[in-house]
Parts: sequence; structure tokens; C-alpha cells
Amino acid sequence: MPLKVIVVGAGIAGLSAAIGLAKKGLKVEVYERRVIGARDEGRAGIALGPNCDRVLQEWGMLEGMPSISHDSEKVSLGTNSDGSIVLVDIKRRGHSWWGQRQAFKEYFRDHAIKAGAKVSDGARMVKVDLEKPSITLDDGREVQGDFIVAADGANSRIRQTLFPEFKPMIREQATFQVMLPLEQVEKDKVLRTLKLDKYVNIVVSPGRSIFMAPTPHQHVFDLQFTDHEFPFSEDPHPDKTNETLTDLTWMKQRWHDFGPAVRKALDSANSAFKWRFTEVMGVPRWSSPNGKVVLVGDSVHAQTPFAGQGSAMGMESGALLAELIAHSQPGDDLSPQLAIFEKIRRPRCELAQELSLISGDIWAIHDEKAIKTRNEMWRHANDPGYEEVKPDMKAKFGSPQFTKWMDKYDVFQVARDELNRARL
Ligand SMILES: Cc1cc2nc3c(=O)[nH]c(=O)nc-3n(C[C@H](O)[C@H](O)[C@H](O)COP(=O)(O)OP(=O)(O)OC[C@H]3O[C@@H](n4cnc5c(N)ncnc54)[C@H](O)[C@@H]3O)c2cc1C
Repeated sequence: MPLKVIVVGAGIAGLSAAIGLAKKGLKVEVYERRVIGARDEGRAGIALGPNCDRVLQEWGMLEGMPSISHDSEKVSLGTNSDGSIVLVDIKRRGHSWWGQRQAFKEYFRDHAIKAGAKVSDGARMVKVDLEKPSITLDDGREVQGDFIVAADGANSRIRQTLFPEFKPMIREQATFQVMLPLEQVEKDKVLRTLKLDKYVNIVVSPGRSIFMAPTPHQHVFDLQFTDHEFPFSEDPHPDKTNETLTDLTWMKQRWHDFGPAVRKALDSANSAFKWRFTEVMGVPRWSSPNGKVVLVGDSVHAQTPFAGQGSAMGMESGALLAELIAHSQPGDDLSPQLAIFEKIRRPRCELAQELSLISGDIWAIHDEKAIKTRNEMWRHANDPGYEEVKPDMKAKFGSPQFTKWMDKYDVFQVARDELNRARL
């Protein structure tokens, strides 16, 4: 009899776990509190970087990606005072799929269902029983399984039940996401200078940055204004990590020195969506001691967005979990597989978290000498070398060796090697 797995949360991590597990023939049920497809923060743009390719390919999802997202070819890195410094060729690293969060989630949900998972949305978990294990939904129903995957995000209720003393880090940094109709941007001679076709446009300055890219399938131009120095004292609602803002006066002041196109973009916008960054690092363990519950995705490795790796790490975690428990039966003790899961995932996710923090700091530096050094480093971003080097997780951040380790990671091979080593 196959293992019955309950997945809580239909974000990229939960749906990835669902796809991987259902493809292995396990009985998978996903419960999501929101209605998938509802137009909320889901319209924000995200990138699924080169390391997602391996997983998408294994699951037969690579071919469909161009129908929901576009493959970015170059990233412009520049400053508000100097303009574009370099067009980084990211094509040589593999695909970098840029699209709306919501479109990716719908695509992953469809593939989870196709693989055999049952996905229920509008179904909020209000209680978890770690022993049975079971979850109770807001309509009073109790759903019992053999195993629970907690993919319920950075404020995970299941993690809170497991480790009530653990608190995520709420950073004094936030992104304010603005969306403009793509057609409006393309037609306006001032606004269209922000849009680089098939390119991501990143403009930085001390303490602030903007990340811009079109999501053509949804006819939207996405602008993510990040305040790298956003103290709680300046936030009108410091208790809210996410919210829609309709008064953009403060943003206009904060980015007033960013040139006419950026100012016009802010004048043209009706609202912005605030994402205050939550980081989840150092959770005591990634599964329950009885081996019946595991944490995946932002519930255990949420990170700041500057490495563009949060969803990607969730995908890898979901895929690895499926490989490790594929042959388990009801009643089996999964603790050995979950120990391997944590042993493999913790160091990689922590390195991605560190890389993101350092990248964010580099974007936002104030010191003039350090800015010159950074810009000089950016000018060398296209230097040859990437193709020839061997991936190395111990190499310096930003080196071709480290970047290649991030990009070319084969989670399926890693799983096979570890299972052989442990003779499981
Ligand atoms: C501004 C910004 C830009 C980013 N850009 C990128 C990027 O370019 N590339 C990238 O890879 N990552 C990026 N990230 C990170 C990425 O968004 C997250 O890491 C990723 O979405 C996390 O996926 P998840 O499935 O773990 O969590 P979530 O997406 O948070 O999903 C958790 C799900 O659980 C559901 N849930 C919660 N509680 C319950 C409950 N009690 N019952 C039922 N359901 C529940 C929630 O509704 C939600 O759908 C960015 C993040 C930010 C803030």
C-alpha cells in the first residue's frame, strides 16, 4: 500500500513535493488556505533560475515553461548615477524563467494533479496533530495520513507547533512591488526606457534598488523597489509583513533621485505591494523526532530575494524529499531518510541564504571606494571561465566555480549517491 502524504501549503515548495511524491506513486493530498489563482500578491514576478532546469526536465515540465514565462537572456546591472554598467550574459548559465508567481503556481498545481495528487484550495489547516499524524481544517474535518509535509510558508504554523521557541528573523528591509500595464510602458517614450527586451534591469544606489522586468504573458511590467534600510519605526504598519499600499507618497520621496522614468512609473502607479523580508534560518531540526512530519520551503529556509533562490530551493527540497521516501510503506520509520534530507539540504540552503544577504548588501553599499570596487567587479561579469570550471560549493561567492555549483546541481544524482552510501 502506498504511503498517504498530506502536504500543507500549495506554494512552489508544497506543489513541488506533491509532484515528486505523486510521480513516485504515493497517495498525495494538498491543502491550501487560499484560492489558487486569486489575484493577490501572486502577480509578483519571480525568476526560476538555472538550477530549476534539472527538476523541471525530470518532471517533463521544461517544454511548457515558455507558455507561461520568458527566458531572460541578459541582466543589466547599473546605478542611478552611472546608468547601465554591464549587460550580464546569463544565457550561458542555462534558463532563467521570469514570470508571475501565480502563473508558476497554477502550472505546478496542474502538474501535481496530472501526476495523481489531490489539490484542495480554500482549505485552511487550523491544527496539526504530530503523533497521528493529522491536520484539522477550518470546516472541522480531520484528515489523517502517514506523513505530513509542512510547506506552509515562512510563518509556518506546523513549525510553530514543533518549535514554539523558534522565531523567524523579520528584516529591516522590504520590497515594494509595482505593476504597470506593459502596453502603457511600451507606448510611453519616458517609461519605455526602463524596459529592456528579454532583459532584467537592475538599478542600485546606496540603500535602495529597483529590479524591473516585463511579464509579457500577463501584459504586465513589474517593478520591485527595495528599501535595504527600512526600519520598523518608518513602517506605518510594522506588524504587517505583507500589505497593499495605496498612498505612495513615501515611496516617491525615497526614490526621488532615480531619474524621470522611475519617477513617472511611481506617478503612474495606483498601489504597491509590500513584502517585508522574513528569513528562516537555524531551525533546530527539519523534521519531527518521530519521523512523521518534515518542513520544506520557506517554512524552514526562507531567504531574502537577492540571490533569486527562494522558490528554487523549495523546488529542490520537494524533489529530494520525493526521491528519499519514494519506496516507504505505511508504518515505516522515516527518520533515517529525513536525517539524510536535512544533511543534504541544510548546507545548500544556508549557502543560498548567505549569498542572498551578501548580494543585497553589495547592491546597497554607501562607501564610495566600495562602490567603485563593486562596479569594477560587475564589469568583469562576462569574463570567460564559467564553461571550463568545475562546480565548487567551497569557492568564493560570485566566483564561476560557486555559481556553477548553484546552477548545475543535480538533486536526483545527490539523492542516489546518498541512498547508496546509507544502503537504504
Ligand atoms: C520580493 C520577493 C522576490 C522574490 N523573488 C524570487 C525569485 O526571483 N526567485 C525565487 O526563486 N524566489 C524568489 N523569492 C522567494 C520566493 O517567493 C519564496 O521563497 C517562495 O515563494 C516560497 O515558496 P513556499 O512554497 O515555501 O512558500 P509560500 O509561497 O509562502 O507558500 C506557502 C503556502 O502555504 C499556504 N498556507 C499557509 N498556512 C496555511 C494553512 N494554515 N493552511 C493551508 N495553507 C496554508 C499559504 O497560503 C501559501 O500558499 C522572492 C521573495 C520575495 C519576497
